[in-house]
Amino acid sequence: MLKRSFLGWSKPRIKNLTIGDIHRPPETIAVPETVTLLIEKPDVSTGPPLVQPGEAVQSGQKLVLFEQADTYATAPVTGQVTRVTTRAGDFGKNYVEICIAAEDADQADEAWAAACSDGPTLETLTGYLANVPGKPGLEALQNPEKPIHKIVVNGSDADLLVATRQYQVKNQADDIHHGIGILKEATGIDDIVICLTQDVVQNIGHLGAEPVGVNNEYPGTLPLMIMKDSLDMEVPAGDACEDLGVFFISAEAVASIGRAFTQKAIPTEKTITVVDKAGAVRLYKTTIGTPLTAVFAAVGVELQEGDRIISGGPMTGAAVYTDEFPIMPDTDAIIVQGGADIPLMSDYPCINCGDCIPICPARIQVNMLVRFLEAGQYQDAADLYDLFSCVECGLCTFVCPAKIPIFQYIKLAKYELARLESAEAANE
Ligand code: SF4
Ligand code: SF4
Repeated sequence: MLKRSFLGWSKPRIKNLTIGDIHRPPETIAVPETVTLLIEKPDVSTGPPLVQPGEAVQSGQKLVLFEQADTYATAPVTGQVTRVTTRAGDFGKNYVEICIAAEDADQADEAWAAACSDGPTLETLTGYLANVPGKPGLEALQNPEKPIHKIVVNGSDADLLVATRQYQVKNQADDIHHGIGILKEATGIDDIVICLTQDVVQNIGHLGAEPVGVNNEYPGTLPLMIMKDSLDMEVPAGDACEDLGVFFISAEAVASIGRAFTQKAIPTEKTITVVDKAGAVRLYKTTIGTPLTAVFAAVGVELQEGDRIISGGPMTGAAVYTDEFPIMPDTDAIIVQGGADIPLMSDYPCINCGDCIPICPARIQVNMLVRFLEAGQYQDAADLYDLFSCVECGLCTFVCPAKIPIFQYIKLAKYELARLESAEAANE
């Protein structure tokens, strides 16, 4: 809910959803007939993927796709691979798409049970658990150029209308506690904290990590804001938390790691928040790889022409172009907007109302930045108007009365500058 100040120039306040706002436990969506996995294609890949149609797979089985890359998929069901193809994604990404027809009789792959019995190591975690619900991203801890000394378990949800991580903290506390112990043992890092919003922190027992309260007003739960407001560590413009030796991992990913060891099976069930066209917010449990068509059929959403599907929250999520798009390991929310409710973007020029300035948590002069972005002058936007200080909260787009897609311009500008930089580095 947006609350504007009567005093004019101070920030409007937008409060995140809290788990207490959701009154029904999550329903489980049945395993679909076919699951779809999307795996980002590494640049080093040559030739066709090693997994091919006809191959039988078991739940939790590691599917190595390319000989020269660490990337792999994880089968969320037992069944047979029916299709392997490539797909273009946004911002220059390419994906391998693997479809698996699920069988009724589920059979867990035994490789993980054998691997985890030797105890937790970072290599074991990255080698088997890269695609568990919450997507741990632990590969970042293996970068010798950016040694990590602090792990932040994020139990707060990064966008509005999302309660997925808060649900995990309230209902999977034992798994999280166990997962934190495993992380400490595997990484040797004892400095682990868990970020919790105030209404979740009540009635939660000890989770094995120091609790840190976070501001539940958007964008207080974004990692860069948590760093500044709750951990007293300001990340310099253009840097990431890892540059300061801090690694963020979601509470759901930690719960998945804990459960993988207690159950000796790789978790494949993802918790998601679904917001329907009427704005009702519900939690569901669904198998990774479930296409959105199956999710919508189960939850009673009927799509009509002109409706929009957003993967992620309303401020930072991305529109998806097909209802065949699958639930990914890091899909925390799906939002469906009715065609009539979609706020239209425009190519009207900035009217210099100034609304984007007080709301920007990075204190950027967005009204000036946007002029350079609209003109495609990305380097000037970075040099003169703090493009890289942007924490990508989307608030400027939200308040802009001219409906300028500022947030999308910012992401495009950062992508283009990164692409130019790597092209120049390759030419040197
Ligand atoms: S998205 Fe907009 S409001 Fe948010 S930090 Fe970036 S420029 Fe500021
Ligand atoms: S909110 Fe939109 S119209 Fe107003 S100054 Fe910012 S970019 Fe311009």
